[in-house]
Amino acid sequence: MIYDLVRYQFVDESISSMKRENVLLVSLGCSWGKCAFCDYQDDKSSSVLACDTVNKKVLSQVKGREVGSSILEVTCSASYTELPFTTINYIRETCKEKGITTVILEGHYIYRDTNRFFTDFFEQYGIKTIFRCGVETFDEHIREDILHKGFPNVTAEDIAKYFSWINIMFGMEGQTLSQLEKDVATGLKFFDRINISIYTTVKNGPARDSKAIEAFYNSDLYKELKENPAIDIYDEWDEDNAHKVGHDEP
Ligand code: SF4
Repeated sequence: MIYDLVRYQFVDESISSMKRENVLLVSLGCSWGKCAFCDYQDDKSSSVLACDTVNKKVLSQVKGREVGSSILEVTCSASYTELPFTTINYIRETCKEKGITTVILEGHYIYRDTNRFFTDFFEQYGIKTIFRCGVETFDEHIREDILHKGFPNVTAEDIAKYFSWINIMFGMEGQTLSQLEKDVATGLKFFDRINISIYTTVKNGPARDSKAIEAFYNSDLYKELKENPAIDIYDEWDEDNAHKVGHDEP
């Protein structure tokens, strides 16, 4: 089912140190589909026409040079490999037309071997590709036994061979501030940029630990991360959070 979501946002300097445009596209569905915290994989369609129709409309909002932006971050309800090829083409055409020179694609580690094909495809138009991986945590037990991310025994070094940005998630029962601190330290050591998502409860998923989240927002760690230009913090439950892509349409 294709949800009614905020699918485009211009992220200016008041929101992030990296000015960019964000789009949330509709995929054909996540073939992994097992991550315990994930309900956004339901935002999909098995119809290429349906995906393309929505995605074309979302991409038509990209402004590029008009707003002084040369970076487009693409997220979808699965991995970049699970967008229709026609949509991938629209992305490239949009970049060309709007003066976008860097495209960021997000996906699961299992698709790492396909990255080079995407790099080549965008490079044909002089567009650089950055790959972002949903890691969630480097705590192997939480990542694999609880979250079912599906890449056991994979280290930060392994991931960094293919991906230069990562997602970290915080706020599930069992997660601690000290683990987040370790995740961030590892993330900053091996990767260029970290997106931290504050966990939102999903049906049949892990419980949200509101106390841990409150403790995070009151911590020195939060103040430090907020000031770090290599980090963005996303929180769907925080009305004041500036990152709006993926939220329900008001
Ligand atoms: S790989 Fe991504 S889209 Fe698929 S289930 Fe996991 S988090 Fe959700």
